[in-house]
Amino acid sequence: MKYHLITFGCQMNKSDSERIAARLQNIGYEKTTDIKQSDLIIVNMCSVRQSAVDRVYGLANQFLELKKKNVQFKVGLTGCLLNQDRKKMEKFFDFIFNIKDLNNLEKIILQQKIDFEKSPQDYLSLLPKINSKISAFVPIMTGCNNFCSYCVVPYTRGREFSRPEQEIIKEVKSLIKKGFLEIILLGQNVNSYHQNIKTLRHKNKAINFPKLLQMIDNFSENFWLTFLTSHPKDLSDELIKVMAQSKKIIKYLHLPVQSGDNEILKKMNRHYTVQDYKNLIKKIRKKIPGITISTDIIVGFPGETKKQFKNTARLLKKIKFDQVYIAQYSPRAGTKAALIKDDVLKEEKHQREKTLNKILEKTALKNNKKLIGQTLEILVKNCKNNQYYGQTKNFKNVKINLEKSNKAELFFPQPKIGQFVKAKIIKATPWGLEGIIN
Ligand code: SF4
Repeated sequence: MKYHLITFGCQMNKSDSERIAARLQNIGYEKTTDIKQSDLIIVNMCSVRQSAVDRVYGLANQFLELKKKNVQFKVGLTGCLLNQDRKKMEKFFDFIFNIKDLNNLEKIILQQKIDFEKSPQDYLSLLPKINSKISAFVPIMTGCNNFCSYCVVPYTRGREFSRPEQEIIKEVKSLIKKGFLEIILLGQNVNSYHQNIKTLRHKNKAINFPKLLQMIDNFSENFWLTFLTSHPKDLSDELIKVMAQSKKIIKYLHLPVQSGDNEILKKMNRHYTVQDYKNLIKKIRKKIPGITISTDIIVGFPGETKKQFKNTARLLKKIKFDQVYIAQYSPRAGTKAALIKDDVLKEEKHQREKTLNKILEKTALKNNKKLIGQTLEILVKNCKNNQYYGQTKNFKNVKINLEKSNKAELFFPQPKIGQFVKAKIIKATPWGLEGIIN
């Protein structure tokens, strides 16, 4: 029996899909990338944006066709799923399950009665089937207690749950032993790891996120360590200090600001002001020079005036981000923001996104140009049509120009992908760098 997985959404969903793949292979399924060959499809969906929900509806006809051709064919749904979406989607799927019930997947597929004997969070202890050979996601927590007014995560994933550190350490050690060179710790808000101590197995001796990072940083092997995502209100001085002193933690921080206007931030329930955010960035850049900083912005939040949007544009110019992930606001049923009229026109949201992208293009280029002439350590991650691509330790993409490299032979005969090399940066664009080996 063959399975095919379709994943939407963030890194956390991608990481969950690696666990779904492992579970399916444990119970005898074989992976296929060809949807037409599959006997089982599992869609791991995301309700965070309407566009992802619409794409799941778009697949429904394809599933009906597959059912007609293969009587054994089944299709299941999991992931970040709002109740109202679940009800509407029931008719397209043979089964819908909560990712926390992954250990019961075999029974769920067979539509047998389930005895929920395992802890619902135990699915995280299942070893994943990792897609990459270089980078591995390790979830350290799931869920969120923050209830930002636009976000469905606290409703779809539930409240925060932190994995015991022993389990995380064991997983990281085994990944490093297998040769993974980049470990990415995941959580909706990694900074609140163990803040609400709800681990099932050890309630008394819990450590916080900076201490967890330190423990992993102390491993003797050569690898890079990073994490996603941080909430500005919870990013502590202790974490900045650990990052600044670490040899393995890469110089990169994704710190979603969402808006550059205090009134909008309040409506978003973000619990910081624009000045708090600016102060935080100043402190981080002072302690960790050369750090790459990216952020998330929502344009067209209900009631966002032109003046309030200009404050966001001003913040982007001031901070000079290296990357900005911009989302046009769309109401998600069940959230507080959905109760406010979505009054910014689609065309205006589009225009605001365009304006921010133009600012980003300039700031990112300016930041990248500063790296020209520097020789940086690069992890080679990819090769397409004989062209190698890598990433610097401050999270910049680098195209490796072997034709111009004086010492290209250092790169060959092996290893190539998964190799650390030193490259001199010779060119910069807003979206990446070009380097030579010499
Ligand atoms: S911190 Fe806010 S935006 Fe992030 S997952 Fe939690 S509720 Fe959603």
